Order: sequence, then C-alpha cells, then structure tokens
Amino acid sequence: MNDPRRFNRREFLRRSAAAAAAGLAGGLAGQSAFAEADPVGEAARKVGRLPRRKLGPSGREVSVLIGAGDLAPAPAEAAILCGVNFWHKANRWARNGAPEAVLKNREAHYCQVTVDRVGGNHEVGRIDEQAHYDFVKEMIARTGLRYFDDMQLHYGYHNRAEVKAERGFVRAFERLKKEGLVKHLCLSQHGYAGNARVPGGESAAEILTAVVEDGLYEHAQIIYSYGPDKDINDFLSLARRKNFGTIAMKTARGLGRMKQDGDFMAALPEGAAPHNALVRWLTTATELDAVVIRVRSLDEFVETFSGAGKPLRSADATAVALMTARADRTACRLCTACQPHCPQRVPIAEILRFERYALDDGDWQKARALYAGLERRADACRACGTCVAHCPLGLPIPEKLAAAHAVLSA
Ligand code: SF4
Ligand code: SF4
Repeated sequence: MNDPRRFNRREFLRRSAAAAAAGLAGGLAGQSAFAEADPVGEAARKVGRLPRRKLGPSGREVSVLIGAGDLAPAPAEAAILCGVNFWHKANRWARNGAPEAVLKNREAHYCQVTVDRVGGNHEVGRIDEQAHYDFVKEMIARTGLRYFDDMQLHYGYHNRAEVKAERGFVRAFERLKKEGLVKHLCLSQHGYAGNARVPGGESAAEILTAVVEDGLYEHAQIIYSYGPDKDINDFLSLARRKNFGTIAMKTARGLGRMKQDGDFMAALPEGAAPHNALVRWLTTATELDAVVIRVRSLDEFVETFSGAGKPLRSADATAVALMTARADRTACRLCTACQPHCPQRVPIAEILRFERYALDDGDWQKARALYAGLERRADACRACGTCVAHCPLGLPIPEKLAAAHAVLSA
C-alpha cells in the first residue's frame, strides 16, 4: 500500500469503528473518539452526517454534497465518514485504483464514470458508440470498481437537434447496462450558443430542457451559482416537476478571489464564512438535488461540508448577498449569452472559465494548458465592446479578456 492516494484499509476500518462508537454513523451524537489528534476524524466530527436527497427517477438517496474522483485523499476520507455516497468522476481513480473504503463497501457508493467525446475536445470531438463503450470497460478494469452506477456524457450535447439525432452515447450505455456494467444515464451540460467551433450551438437551458423532454436521461450536472439566472431556474423547476435529478457544478463563482481579499473578508458578518454560506444557500434555498463543490484541504472541507442542509441564517444571507454583488462585478457566470455577438468569434466563456480555474481554484497548470489549446485566444479581441451589452452582468469583457490573456499565456 505504497500509493498515498489509496486509503489504507486498516486505518479506514479503525476510523469507521471510531465513527460508529462516536455516533457518526447514526447522527454524530458522541464525539469523544475524535478528540485525539486525528485530523481526518476531527474534520468528520466537525461536519457531522450529511443529509441525503432523492436523485431522479431511481429514487436513490444521495448526499446533498457529492464527492469527486479528484478530491485529495484526506478530505475524501473525511467525506466518506460523513456519509458522502455519490462520486463524480470516479474514473479519475483509474490512475491508482479506487479508494479501499469504496472498494470494500462498493454497494454503499454510487460511482460515476465521466465520458468525453473522442477525436477532439468537447467542441469538435464526436460521440462514438464503440469508443465510449470501450472506455467505460477500461475504466472499470483500471479502477477495480467492478461497475459504474452512473455513465455521464461529459459536457453534454451541442444543441437540441443533436439530442434527438445522435444516439451513439445512449446505445453505448444500453450495451453496457445489459452487461451489468452501468445502471443510470446522466450528463453534464455546458452552453454552446455562439461558440465559433460549434455550428448551431445552443444554450445549456435549451439543451437541458430537450433532454428532460426526451426522457432517456435520469439526471444532469448544471453550471449554477449565486445570482439570478431565470433560464436555469426555469429549467430547475421543470426538472422538479418531471422528477429529473439535478446536481450543481462550478458553484463557487469568484470565491477564491474573494477569500484573498482582506477587505472583503473583513466586511462579512460575524459568524459567516463564504463556502459555508454558499453551501447553506445551495442546499436549502434552491431547487437543486445535490451539489459538487471543490475543496482543496481539510480546513476547506470543514468550512464547506458543515453547511450542507443547514438553514441560511441572517448572517449567511447577508454574506451570500455580498458574494453575489462581488462576483457579479468580477466573475463570469459562463452563461454564453455574449458569445453569439462577437464578430471576432472569441470563445469568451471558455477563456473566462479557464480564468476561474486559475484565479479561484488556484489550478494554474490546468488553466494554462487549456488556454494554450484554444484555436482563438483572447488576443483576437478587438475591444469593440459589442459583447458587453449582451452580458447580464455587464462585465467589462474586453478588459477581462486582456487580463486573462496576460496571465494565462505567461
Ligand atoms: S469586445 Fe472583444 S470579445 Fe467582445 S465582441 Fe468585441 S471583439 Fe468580441
Ligand atoms: S461574460 Fe457575461 S454573458 Fe458572457 S458568459 Fe460570462 S456572464 Fe455570460
């Protein structure tokens, strides 16, 4: 067991036993077993047991905050102790094998395989039944999970016509399902309206509505954060009515930048913390079923996960209002409303998504690599300002693109 990403089975069982003794498994009543110097157990004790909600027509009960295959080992282990039972991007465990804690208790976890288009990226790649089928089989073998619960079309469809006409992903799913290797069909959906590399691209809300009406998929991951977004909120209401599951992603818009701003942090009401307030709001004041939110350390895990399903206090509501106002001045919502109007066909939302990876997540390597792969970059912008009038936030897009280019092409 030399791999630091793998959970040590004996250690996990020891912690699980301690968790049971401390009441974690049934509600975290007792806590003395975690009083020792055990950072993972201590973090789990502070967070407590996460509430669960039904996800889509299968009626599966999933934790309101889900985990991800690229979560660092310590927060992942704490998450398991707190009852996280749905794992987005579980195929990321292919490199080193799935955590022992999941393998040992496989039926207690829902593991999702994230499947990309082939022959290019999410914009120019194609849906390919056989390639997707082969990929899932390979990931099952490499992770050791035996099967995946959920098979996700990563980035989703380009437009409503493709939902109807391109069935290769669904056929791959059906073949794998017959073999008992996958169980539920899902997608994550980005917006493609005005994307120069996607002819006929449409908005996420339009495509998702078509997916729900099509009736083949059980749930979707959607880009969702604070600030009013009528189209996506209308979609959430539709999803609720139709018993279609929803999981929010890219939820912490601009949060990394806020936390580095001492004046902003000092202005927050006493007792409110940004990630905690965000999660309280996402899990109690929206029509979402579950949320994925990136955490990078045990401290961030505690701040974030301890808000799951908890009421939004007055201080939290004030904090969310301040965060929304700040994000609306600085951070792109990735709605793509601006893109059809750019005469230079600059992929504005893509560039500003990479900016968020860098400035909010601190993931500079990924951001720069993705930016380097773009066909048209921010230096194609002629600062005409046309896009600004179409941005619901009125973001200073040309200036933001110039700043993004400076840091992402460095
Ligand atoms: S300001 Fe730049 S990004 Fe915006 S429409 Fe003009 S060229 Fe396109
Ligand atoms: S810049 Fe504005 S319009 Fe364009 S994707 Fe971002 S939030 Fe939407």
